[in-house]
Amino acid sequence: MSFTPIVDESKCVGCEECVDVCPVQVFEMEDGKSVPVNAEECMGCESCVEVCEEGAITVEED
Ligand code: SF4
Ligand code: SF4
Repeated sequence: MSFTPIVDESKCVGCEECVDVCPVQVFEMEDGKSVPVNAEECMGCESCVEVCEEGAITVEED
């Protein structure tokens, strides 16, 4: 099973909460938006989904 974290750029306000909460450093900030640069490391814990008050993050499972 693999997980793919996706950030909706139009909703991201750049608070960096997801960067701080992810245990495997999936996210980095680029031009004020969070980008899942290490998406392949995602283990599907959904901490980022819960911490994002903008509802900008979804995690797809396949
Ligand atoms: S927690 Fe949400 S709003 Fe904040 S940087 Fe991450 S994706 Fe953007
Ligand atoms: S689901 Fe967990 S491991 Fe995956 S990006 Fe979000 S916080 Fe990181």
